[in-house]
Amino acid sequence: MQKGRFGSFFWPAPFVIRATMMQDGVKAQSMQFTQLDLQPPILQAIGKMGYDHMTPIQEHAIPVILEGHDVLGLAETGSGKTGACGIPLVQRTDPDLNAIQALILVPTRELASQYVEEVGRIAQETEVVPFAVFGGVKMSLQQAKLRHKVHILVATPGRLLDFIWNTDLNLSHVRTLVLDEADEMLNMGFIEDVKFIMSCLVHEHQTLLFSATMPKELDHLATSCLKAPRRIELNQEQRAPQSLQHHFQHTDRNRLPTLIDYLRTEPIQQSIIFCNSRHQGGQLLTALQGRFTSLAYIHGGLEQSQRALIFDRFRRQKIKFMVATDLAARGLDFRYVSHVINYDPPLSHEAYTNRTGRAGRMGRSGIALTLVTDRDLQHLNRLLRINRIEPVWRGRVPELALRPRSQEGINGKRASRRNTSRRRSRKAALAPKL
Ligand code: AMP
Repeated sequence: MQKGRFGSFFWPAPFVIRATMMQDGVKAQSMQFTQLDLQPPILQAIGKMGYDHMTPIQEHAIPVILEGHDVLGLAETGSGKTGACGIPLVQRTDPDLNAIQALILVPTRELASQYVEEVGRIAQETEVVPFAVFGGVKMSLQQAKLRHKVHILVATPGRLLDFIWNTDLNLSHVRTLVLDEADEMLNMGFIEDVKFIMSCLVHEHQTLLFSATMPKELDHLATSCLKAPRRIELNQEQRAPQSLQHHFQHTDRNRLPTLIDYLRTEPIQQSIIFCNSRHQGGQLLTALQGRFTSLAYIHGGLEQSQRALIFDRFRRQKIKFMVATDLAARGLDFRYVSHVINYDPPLSHEAYTNRTGRAGRMGRSGIALTLVTDRDLQHLNRLLRINRIEPVWRGRVPELALRPRSQEGINGKRASRRNTSRRRSRKAALAPKL
């Protein structure tokens, strides 16, 4: 059996752990961090962070990462994946070696900030220095820090490539490479950059892939970048967050009155309202302005400083309603989001899982509302089945066309591999601006 990174062939990993996800935060009977052989300063920091028991992904992943294995970790969004990775990374870092020893690639700038903050908290009592580089910030400032001392580097692929091409960035001491939101990192938009970055790590190292979702067509690619990986699957085949109620409302083509009525009548603490493109988000923002005051719009076209400000204000509950493109769909940890609203229906069942995962973090309750028009109904059956959603219908229940699987259109399960790759190229070509 051959195994290895990209291009080689790898049979499914022999070590597969499947377990039930927590329903109400961290399970009382789960292991405590003190049961692990962690350095006292790390245990002290974890204690300060208020972490006592491990979440299921932490319980399964931390020991195998500490042993040096490659890992494919699939677990529900908001289930503690950052700590599952960050804790062993800090433990395995030698602070006396002034070199980058762990490299974490993430798809968005906001995720880079959030990731490095969490690693910073874990490392607060140690001499380990984490740092993040991403676009929209002056490279010279980031370079000064990199030249001084960084042990754990979190990066978006584009900015990391800028450093690789234009500076003397040294990655020869990287012992661990992490792809967070791994399916996104292996998708068309990032794959070439990620492959190049991986090709720069020519020495022996550990690779960790973490995600809430892993489309079947990317699974083979994912395992092909790992060596004898431990596969930890706690996401039960891409279920949508189970602590949420999944509401659906059938509307006519003009969704706006339904949304306005919902925002006015529903007891919402905070909500993210997802649109499928910058243009649609802009139109929705204009329509909501004047009706609602505590409102903002986040998308990839904003200056980095504006993006950071909006996310920060939203996190601190200074903003109640945030219209967003899928830029905000992945990985971000918003504690007070009670409602995720799909104003435009998500373009895939993975997108549904990622978007709705912004509410119901760590098993908290919440509501995901998806507005569906007649046009969306044909894909709804598949979304409900794959994500194992029990829909709660608000208002009129539409007739869901029950069609044989073989006719399920471009997202059909039985599509051939050739169709799958064509579909991926087409999806990439048609990808809206976020
Ligand atoms: P993540 O999935 O890594 O974004 O984490 C989701 C949220 O859970 C974050 O607010 C973390 O700070 C929190 N968290 C992670 N691990 C634990 C733990 N073991 N105990 C309590 N909270 C945790």
